[in-house]
Amino acid sequence: MNQSTHNQALPAAPALLAGAPKPDHAVFHGQLYIDGAWREALDGARFERRSPAHGHLVSTFAEAGSADVEEAIGAAQRAFDDGRWAGLKGVERARILLAVADGITARVDEMALLEALETGKPLAQARGEVGGCVDLWQYAAGLARTLSGDAYDSLGQDMLGIVLRQPIGVVGLITPWNFPIWILSQKLPFALAAGCTCVVKPSELTSSTTAILMQILAQAGVPPGVVNLVTGQGPTVGQPLAEHPAIAMLSFTGSTRVGSLLGGIASKGLKKVALELGGKNPQIVFPDCDWDAMIDAVVFGVYFNAGECCNSGSRVLVHASIAERFTQAVVERSRQVAIGDPLHPDCKVGAIVSERQMADILANIDKGVADGARLRLGGKRYDADGLYLEPTVIGDVTPDMPIAREEVFGPVLVIIAFDDARQAVSIANDTAYGLSAAVWSRDIDTCLTVARGVHAGTVWVNTFLDGYPELPFGGVKASGVGRELGKQAVEDYTETKTIQLHMGGRSNWWLPRPAA
Ligand code: NDP
Repeated sequence: MNQSTHNQALPAAPALLAGAPKPDHAVFHGQLYIDGAWREALDGARFERRSPAHGHLVSTFAEAGSADVEEAIGAAQRAFDDGRWAGLKGVERARILLAVADGITARVDEMALLEALETGKPLAQARGEVGGCVDLWQYAAGLARTLSGDAYDSLGQDMLGIVLRQPIGVVGLITPWNFPIWILSQKLPFALAAGCTCVVKPSELTSSTTAILMQILAQAGVPPGVVNLVTGQGPTVGQPLAEHPAIAMLSFTGSTRVGSLLGGIASKGLKKVALELGGKNPQIVFPDCDWDAMIDAVVFGVYFNAGECCNSGSRVLVHASIAERFTQAVVERSRQVAIGDPLHPDCKVGAIVSERQMADILANIDKGVADGARLRLGGKRYDADGLYLEPTVIGDVTPDMPIAREEVFGPVLVIIAFDDARQAVSIANDTAYGLSAAVWSRDIDTCLTVARGVHAGTVWVNTFLDGYPELPFGGVKASGVGRELGKQAVEDYTETKTIQLHMGGRSNWWLPRPAA
């Protein structure tokens, strides 16, 4: 395995950080949260999660089966139908969402530790994410008060048109393991702001912070049954959410493979579907850019969250005139990346989430090298107890190679040279994906030409991976369907209803015709 990458004389990858504190915490034990009550699965099954960095037991959870999922959906349906949530005023829902934000703030350290241990991401980064998602709840609270429909006073003297925005109903939320609480917070507060009720299924690898969030929701005053948690396996727990007739909408973040499977099932049942899927996001580098800022953003873009990020800047398209200088600079900077134990205070890149993910990444690297690309740094698993992978840079990549086109979801950068802006845009668009992209140049014409031409839901200009609750996020092509965040985020969880109000006398269609 991975032998082809060992034969070249490469600069040394960074050594793993030494001297991290030992993980010291109680094992978290999660249950299902259905209709406001915590309980075990009906068949008593449980599963566990071990840290990919340390191998020790972090958490255990009730493993839901189909009867548990049925109960959770039933509870959400009853909670929707009796109006205990949708019937509240917007301001009342907003106050509760703000209380949830406060509840998260009070538990940032506890949640961040569990998130770091389950995902393998640096603790400092996890703190930033848990603390940062508070802003998403606060933003959604504002939208709960401003959500509104339309009125049409332009339809004539005898007609008034009113378009209501009503909550769509019971929503199924399926979330992945790479940003567990963050991605849930891109969905749940907006669904709640709209008045929907929900059934949540987190990744079986990272369910702790979602379970803690259920405690916070209850304390904040979210009524029983409004949000229900079912933990367990994707096919047995997630798939019924796409299939069940009582689910009005499915919102999924994860792989394009599973997203496309679930999208097909849900569409067949005529459900609304929102899919946030993978990416092979290009950063496009021109010679006149701010060099230091660009190199920093390239290294950040590919190694952030160990590359396990739908927005990972995993593909750099660089002007041919600077390709070698760029590659050497990226390799040098990559050798200084602080990688190792997620609990180390200096850690910037932690562990890979699972053995399966590690094997997938190594297979992708091997295939790229076998196809003729040139390994410039890394390419191997560290000889250590945890799941650590060397920061990896691959040059001499051509746009037709699978490594240039397929999502690797690891700390692996591929470098492709281009000759002019038109060719750069054409290469950028020559993948199935279209999530995000970046352009680096001091020339505004170049930036706008590329930004307008690239097929992507987000384009960063002279920056990378910034995000704000105000700005919509999502992809085109195989990167997904629909948008999260932004002022329309709450509208996505609503359906319009048209009311036509007639005023004054009306001529009756069925009156007999006057005699000839
Ligand atoms: P998946 O798409 O399998 O997992 C995402 C979520 O879907 C998890 O909650 C998972 O549950 C659930 N799921 C899995 N199979 C089904 C199913 N048949 N029906 C319903 N739900 C299901 O991602 P993986 O964890 O397998 O990662 C594989 C690849 O996916 C990565 O290498 C990466 O390319 C991509 N990915 C993209 C993400 C993104 O942010 N866009 C996030 C994560 C992965 P469970 O974990 O319990 O199986």
